[in-house]
Amino acid sequence: MQGMMMEQPLLVASLLKHAERHHGAREIVSRRVEGDIHRYCYRDLAQRARRMANALSSLVIAPGERVGTLAWNGYRHMELYFAVSGSGAVLHTLNPRLHADQLVYIIEHAQDRVIFFDLTFLPLIESVAARVTSPRFFIAMTDRAHMPRTHSLGSRLLCYEDLIDNHKDDFEWPLLDENSASSLCYTSGTTGNPKGVLYSHRSTLLHTYAAALPDALNCSARDAILPVVPMFHVNAWGLPYIACMTGAKLVFPGAALDGKSLYQLIEEEQVTVSAGVPTVWQGLLAHVESVAGSFSSMRRTIIGGAPCPTAMTQAFQKRHHVDVLHAWGMTELSPVGTVCSFKAHQTGLAEDERYALQAKQGRSVFGIDMKIVDAAGEELPWDGNAAGDLQVRGHWVANEYFGGDYASPLQDGWFPTGDVAKIDADGFMQIVDRSKDVIKSGGEWISSADIENVASLHPEVATAVCIAARHPKWDERPLLLIVKKPGSALEAADLLMFFDGRVAKWWKPDAVLFVDAVPIGATGKVLKNQLRDQYGGHYLQAG
Ligand code: ADP
Repeated sequence: MQGMMMEQPLLVASLLKHAERHHGAREIVSRRVEGDIHRYCYRDLAQRARRMANALSSLVIAPGERVGTLAWNGYRHMELYFAVSGSGAVLHTLNPRLHADQLVYIIEHAQDRVIFFDLTFLPLIESVAARVTSPRFFIAMTDRAHMPRTHSLGSRLLCYEDLIDNHKDDFEWPLLDENSASSLCYTSGTTGNPKGVLYSHRSTLLHTYAAALPDALNCSARDAILPVVPMFHVNAWGLPYIACMTGAKLVFPGAALDGKSLYQLIEEEQVTVSAGVPTVWQGLLAHVESVAGSFSSMRRTIIGGAPCPTAMTQAFQKRHHVDVLHAWGMTELSPVGTVCSFKAHQTGLAEDERYALQAKQGRSVFGIDMKIVDAAGEELPWDGNAAGDLQVRGHWVANEYFGGDYASPLQDGWFPTGDVAKIDADGFMQIVDRSKDVIKSGGEWISSADIENVASLHPEVATAVCIAARHPKWDERPLLLIVKKPGSALEAADLLMFFDGRVAKWWKPDAVLFVDAVPIGATGKVLKNQLRDQYGGHYLQAG
């Protein structure tokens, strides 16, 4: 017997309709690339998104065609999130930090029909425009007064605000199939060519419901959310959609991601929740400490994309009374998979135990199941010790990659994440490493993430990166690369002593190299493959 309930497709446009009707006056504040602060509300967003949807039809964008964006976090990008997906086209967020060659590959692979860009990225657009054939137009996300003078784009250059001004807001969001594609995001491609993950309206809506929950990203109508994580990086972890669903205020940082600008925005806009990768928060914490400041409104910060060092959790929680929500996910997971939020019996944990728990990436949000398996594919126990390949499945996990030129990644219906992890008896998952970063010493594994976590607790360490360096006897041994805090005279021997009693003896790195900086990739993560190329032979040369 069938249930007798209304059947309404789960569509991205319904989020915007809800925000307009039920939270119409709630603010969206953006730091613009033009330099000023722009503010309007969900009602304005919805109206301009409808105008833009009409403009897209005038540009003859057919359902399912890809519309590229090369843009910071801001209100115009938000309008495109809804205008493009809502009208049945596919929003393809391009990562401007990628090399021009990779962008050319991705634009052609996705067959983007038009590309919207922030003024900052004009030089990048100019450098790729002649090398790509699919885009008919390049649309500068600005008004007529700020239009760039460029001849290289010719009649293919259009102005965003002209398109808005020239179209009415009478667009009716179509009733699409909820399984149709809504957005496309390419993996960062640190190994091989980037692969496209094609989200559907349904997967996006289910992800939004689940990610907003109190034990997940914990967002509500009373929040003011600052997504520092870029809108070109897995849809800013879904926060633009979550904000519409919950009616939260949105605060967009634009291009100003330095500690001072972020702090100013957090305080002036009374942000309650922020989200970003650890490298961004380093700059923010350093600035707040340099001005002896603290946070008057921020209550939570969501940290993911890379392991959140315990020292960072402590800095936020002890010094600033901002709770850290450590989360794990990936592009293929829309991205949220696990969040480290406490269960009832863990609320009274002693301080040390609490920080040890928070170093874990957390437990599954509803909609995602996970398991760890050994090399033969056999499931391993959840005892907090056994480590194996992490596999997931769920409503918002990729089934295959866009373009049909890859075999399905699934193994027996599970998606292999490429991460090695442990799961404890409470269901808390901890990433040991990416499988390609794990250090294999004498047939045993050493977690580079654990070594980095310990090193980062040393008061004179700014950044710690541990890599596998080839070793004549043990195959690989951990090598520690350290960026010291300004003015520090830390010696290698002192730092190595710091490991005594904190990790097993054979886990202790054999050497420390002090470096001025470490290479950071397009999504804000340390590029360990580059460091391995540069320093991986250290122990061979040394001995
Ligand atoms: P994203 O960085 O947005 O999560 P990517 O697909 O670029 O998406 O990278 C996913 C990978 O990042 C994961 O497979 C994992 O190796 C790593 N990662 C993500 N979050 C964490 C975390 N909290 N701790 C450790 N590693 C993480």
